[in-house]
Amino acid sequence: MRYNRGMVYLDYAATAPMLDEVREAMYEAEQRYFANASALHTPGHLAMNEIEKARGLLAELIGAEPEEIIFTSGASEANNTVIRTFEGCEIETSPLEHHSIIETAERYRGEALPKLYSYMLANNETGEILDLPEIDRSEFSGSPLFEVVTDWGKPLVTDRRKAYLHSDLTQALGKISLNVKELGLDYATFSAHKIGGPIGVGALYVRKNVPFKPLIIGGNQEGKRRGGTYNTVGIIGFGAALEKLKQERTWEKYDTEVRALRDELAKRILTEVAGSSLNTDLTPGKSLPNILNVSFVAAEGESIQLYLDAEGIVVSTGSACASGDTKPSHVLMAKTGDAEVAHSSVRFSFGLDSTAADVEKVMSVLPRVINLLQNISTVKMEDK
Ligand code: PMP
Repeated sequence: MRYNRGMVYLDYAATAPMLDEVREAMYEAEQRYFANASALHTPGHLAMNEIEKARGLLAELIGAEPEEIIFTSGASEANNTVIRTFEGCEIETSPLEHHSIIETAERYRGEALPKLYSYMLANNETGEILDLPEIDRSEFSGSPLFEVVTDWGKPLVTDRRKAYLHSDLTQALGKISLNVKELGLDYATFSAHKIGGPIGVGALYVRKNVPFKPLIIGGNQEGKRRGGTYNTVGIIGFGAALEKLKQERTWEKYDTEVRALRDELAKRILTEVAGSSLNTDLTPGKSLPNILNVSFVAAEGESIQLYLDAEGIVVSTGSACASGDTKPSHVLMAKTGDAEVAHSSVRFSFGLDSTAADVEKVMSVLPRVINLLQNISTVKMEDK
């Protein structure tokens, strides 16, 4: 079922509407898999079986082993967990990272080795696909980080390197095909609500034998790596969304159908809306196929968003995750260095439910809205 109740929803990169399959799986799970999944009794086992199915699915989709997956409350927690593991160590991030990386790294970075590199594969605001850095993987020991031992008294970290690589794959999952081993990743982050699963569930891939410190301590769950009673219903919902990804090979649909819609909207905006410029490189391989970020001279992003909203068109500005924040987007500032461009940007993000009629509707409203805003702007047209 399409979410659409008369609205054109183009904010999938913030949160995708929940898939019917997910809603049904969660409804059933609430009735059948209500028991504590860590319990030894039968309902506990049944719940745990479902969690393990979801874990296996994510592992299969990203080329990992099931034991390398830890369920979390979302991508923010997963990002915090990786950064906190490297507390006191050198941490390098791309300037385009989500705030859950940037702010955590600012607070916890130090000078010690090993060094953590955190580079997202695809950016949430512009859709840009980044090159992951080449890191120094030469052997190294002598860090207190490597002294952490498991319950069984064995050293936890057997792969001792000078540097490790994390990537936030939150936006990439389902949109392009992914393999954590081929990408050379030690850690990777995912979130269910970007793929039609529930909000409040995510996952962290942690390659075997690399440093890891739990963020939430005080429970045996997730192999002692994340305390707290399992969110069985949420994880089952994540699993249902992953199943759909796998069955439909969604990254292929994004590459064809969704890309065509996104590119059509870009082309029409450039020809029909005065003072528009793209912040997304449409060249295949350079950006996710579902995100389009555009700036409009002398029109403020927030105003555009509100005017479009009044017409039933839902888009976002800057980082939707930081809405309410009137600072220009740190991503566009890093890319363009131009506060005007950053302030005047709007993100259109598509999903598998998007249609040509959505593009049509945007184009029946957007030129008028931009024209109106440009006319009331204090920026003179010749400066625009
Ligand atoms: N990383 C990226 C790249 C994101 O786009 C988001 C969501 N805006 C997050 C992390 C945070 O995800 P969550 O809501 O699951 O914490």
